[in-house]
Amino acid sequence: MSVAQGYPLQSLLLKAVLFDMDGVLVETEPVHAAAYVIAFRRFGLRISPEQYTKAVTLGGSRVDDWFRSLGGEASANDLYAVKDAEFRRLAGESLVPKDGVSELIEELVEAGIRLAVGTSARHSVAVTVLGQIGLLDYFSAIVGMEDVTRIKPDPEVYLKAASLLGVSPGEAVVIEDTPNGVLAAKGAGIRVVCVPSALTVGSDFSKADLVCESLADLDLMKLEGLLRRGAVAQAERHNTKGVRHMAQVDDTIRDSLEEFVSEDPRNVLPAHGNMRIYDAPLMAFAAAEDPLFEVLKRPDVIGPRHRSPGEWLKGAKTVVSYFLPFTECVRKSNRMDGLPSEEWVSARIDGEAFNNLVRKHCAALLMSLGGEAVVPPHQDSFAIVDRRSNWSERHVAYIAGLGTFGLSRSLITSRGTAGRYGSVITTLDIEPTARTVGTHYDACPFLVNSGCGACIESCPSGAITREGKNTAVCSEYLDNVVRPKFRPRYGCAKCQTGVPCEFARPG
Ligand code: SF4
Ligand code: SF4
Repeated sequence: MSVAQGYPLQSLLLKAVLFDMDGVLVETEPVHAAAYVIAFRRFGLRISPEQYTKAVTLGGSRVDDWFRSLGGEASANDLYAVKDAEFRRLAGESLVPKDGVSELIEELVEAGIRLAVGTSARHSVAVTVLGQIGLLDYFSAIVGMEDVTRIKPDPEVYLKAASLLGVSPGEAVVIEDTPNGVLAAKGAGIRVVCVPSALTVGSDFSKADLVCESLADLDLMKLEGLLRRGAVAQAERHNTKGVRHMAQVDDTIRDSLEEFVSEDPRNVLPAHGNMRIYDAPLMAFAAAEDPLFEVLKRPDVIGPRHRSPGEWLKGAKTVVSYFLPFTECVRKSNRMDGLPSEEWVSARIDGEAFNNLVRKHCAALLMSLGGEAVVPPHQDSFAIVDRRSNWSERHVAYIAGLGTFGLSRSLITSRGTAGRYGSVITTLDIEPTARTVGTHYDACPFLVNSGCGACIESCPSGAITREGKNTAVCSEYLDNVVRPKFRPRYGCAKCQTGVPCEFARPG
């Protein structure tokens, strides 16, 4: 599977990264300054390295314009010829990529992200420097001073770089080290990360979308997260009705989990010919403030130990809930009477190990989108006492609108009952999924009008009767009949397979 730190590569918004060169990829500024000091002196002008930095690096002047404003009479070509020779002599073999540059570039290239350099240095100098530090081949485009009509802070350099790579501004991120570079990126409509260099540290970078101390602090996930947060913010800005508008986040989470479940090679049972465990998940979102979370605390529902989302995560806004339906081959294996199939007990236990990966994947994704995320079953405070947990993912799925309860107490979803649940609590504010059912048992014909009742017949322990399910009888059967035969695995679920609600809502 092609997953880079939580993101399926096919669904990345990020298509290109545009780097400034001097001060970002390589610390060349002091060398440029020293070379120009010598070149200016050759043509009769005395400048200091600090004056050069102030006028060119920070001031945004073209060097040849500044040279002429000081009274320089030589042509730009003559000035640059002398400066280039001095630059090569001073730099020698000493130029190396800055910390984290090589690692970041390799990660981006491996993920298929296209790279360009947008610099106020001349094109030929950029080629020389990039070649000298061994990075030239990674860049598909270089835009230098003579390739544009206006240098930074004008956005032309980055608009041209994006155009040469064939990407839109919304698909790229710029990495800069100067306030003028940040302005150029913002003017181009491109999100920008500022990594101040030794010369620019302490400058005003308030316009940058993110400021890092070093490129070693950046990776693909952070850059992708920056674009996604930008997309969400834009969607919210364009929402004129004042209603939360997080469709893009919904889709991102749905797409990512679907792809993870369908492509991850661990979604199989190796002991059973790599039988696939789960089909694509159903997913829904519940508001953390939904009053039904308080209802779960009632003794006749789950009990006061059941925690609300806010008790798991301060500032919780949303609960992401999903249902992983077992595949047809897993379900089919368990349709006979009596003991469960070997495939079923494997899918029940080994499938839960995969479900833990899905939970972690979802939490990592939510965090990369800018939220905090907590998986209650992975917390030390998660507990099951007297067969009741302090976070019931089945009940959470009901609150999120994934289904309603049946006589067997399974949740009947649009993909039936045979499967597993998962959930992640987050501080991201996502529009809740509408609950479209009238009662909490709408989908079970027995509970609506005494129809069906198939699970009464299929339960081998007699735990399900017309009065409901006796959990103690079910557990006794699992502990005393099933576990001794399948240890360390166990399961049963004859009330979920071979019945009308196995893989769909009955009727
Ligand atoms: S088998 Fe029939 S009665 Fe039992 S939960 Fe499913 S729909 Fe309801
Ligand atoms: S899991 Fe098995 S024993 Fe328990 S209620 Fe369902 S069918 Fe009956």
